[in-house]
Amino acid sequence: MTFSNLEIITPILKAIEDQGYKNPTRIQAEAIPSLLKGKDLLGCAQTGTGKTAAFVIPLLQQLYLTKSKKKGKRILKALIISPTRELAIQINDDITNYSKYTGNKSIVIYGGVRQHKQTSALRTGADILVATPGRLLDLIAQGYVSLNKIEYFVLDEADQMLDMGFIHDIKKIITKLPTKRQSLFFSATMPEAIIQLSNQILGSPKRVTIEPEKTTAEKVSQFLYYVSKSDKLDLLKYLINKKRNISTLVFSRTKYGADKIVRSLQKSNIKSEAIHGNKSQNIRQKTLQRFKKNKFPVLVATDIAARGIDVSKLSLVINYDIPNVPETYIHRIGRTGRAQEIGEAITFCSSSETSFLKNIQKLINQQLQMISDHPFHNQKKIDRLEIRKDKKNTKKSRFSASKIKTAKKQGDNLKVESKKRFSKKFKFKRRFKRKKS
Ligand code: AMP
Repeated sequence: MTFSNLEIITPILKAIEDQGYKNPTRIQAEAIPSLLKGKDLLGCAQTGTGKTAAFVIPLLQQLYLTKSKKKGKRILKALIISPTRELAIQINDDITNYSKYTGNKSIVIYGGVRQHKQTSALRTGADILVATPGRLLDLIAQGYVSLNKIEYFVLDEADQMLDMGFIHDIKKIITKLPTKRQSLFFSATMPEAIIQLSNQILGSPKRVTIEPEKTTAEKVSQFLYYVSKSDKLDLLKYLINKKRNISTLVFSRTKYGADKIVRSLQKSNIKSEAIHGNKSQNIRQKTLQRFKKNKFPVLVATDIAARGIDVSKLSLVINYDIPNVPETYIHRIGRTGRAQEIGEAITFCSSSETSFLKNIQKLINQQLQMISDHPFHNQKKIDRLEIRKDKKNTKKSRFSASKIKTAKKQGDNLKVESKKRFSKKFKFKRRFKRKKS
């Protein structure tokens, strides 16, 4: 399958060729034809699958083919909403690349910076607006943005919108859109709240699902390092040195943790910088640009700041802390192995993180490959902990209500009585212990 099979017009084909892309990714091959026919789309796909091009290409093509001959200020015809500033900027950069020969104009607006530059751009007019929800509503309220001529609406990373508490903003934005429009809805995961939201936004959409498990399993080699919390920094330095400073993205759960990692790496002469919510938007962008240009090898990021980071040839992702939301693991490791590249993801697991690890392995339906051949291997403590947990669980289940029910069903009165007695004793002991502590 090539891009020309998808009936894409020459000016866009040329721009795709300039990017060096030869074949469409799966989501592009499945979504582009129905989007060109004007259908709504429900895409269950994470970043890294090529989904931005999957919605930008047909959008540009339709704008180009319906371009009005009248001169004058451009009117906003397309709106793309992204949960984070980084992703919004990334989408806008992609639009600039693909619209090189179609002459469309796009603007990106996001919070955390002064609004002046954004409002002057809006005054001059554009065809496409990429926005984060808060700043968009703010500029609508001030009269700088009107959505009443929007024909194409894209909601990207809907599950992240939900996590970040943007759902009410999104619902507000939807009320300001014309009812006749083409709508596209993307989410990496589809919990109930997201399905409900998609039903409010879409008509009868084409559905495209790109299984995250497959993307994860096929393209990213995933390794697990058991390590005690106090040895994590040393293990990180050991791995960075061993991998000879290849481009590495390290995930920390907290902003404070990210800064601490950077300080320690710098002390050991490993060039690294951090991006997180406490850094200004401009600094975050500059740091990201320098990382993309290989000015330093290690970028340490928190999850929110890392959404939308698109670094081609990013070879290694390290989960310094395991995410407590299993889906976040998929987002994180999706930073490497993007589109047709192969990547590697390393996860550090300390004794307090084993339950997070279990949930992740359940979600991706695979066991991470454990590496024990390193100086900081610490599995014994984890095994001891697991055995203790298992013992506790078996003890509990011996006296559980379901066991009593089964015995009742079997008509085994003796067993019922003995289970009840044990259950009482067990509950009493537990209460006694609680009181004591
Ligand atoms: P996305 O899922 O939109 O974040 O895209 C992930 C990465 O894949 C980006 O670096 C894109 O530039 C790249 N990409 C998009 N489409 C293709 C394609 N057809 N072939 C190769 N790389 C692509």
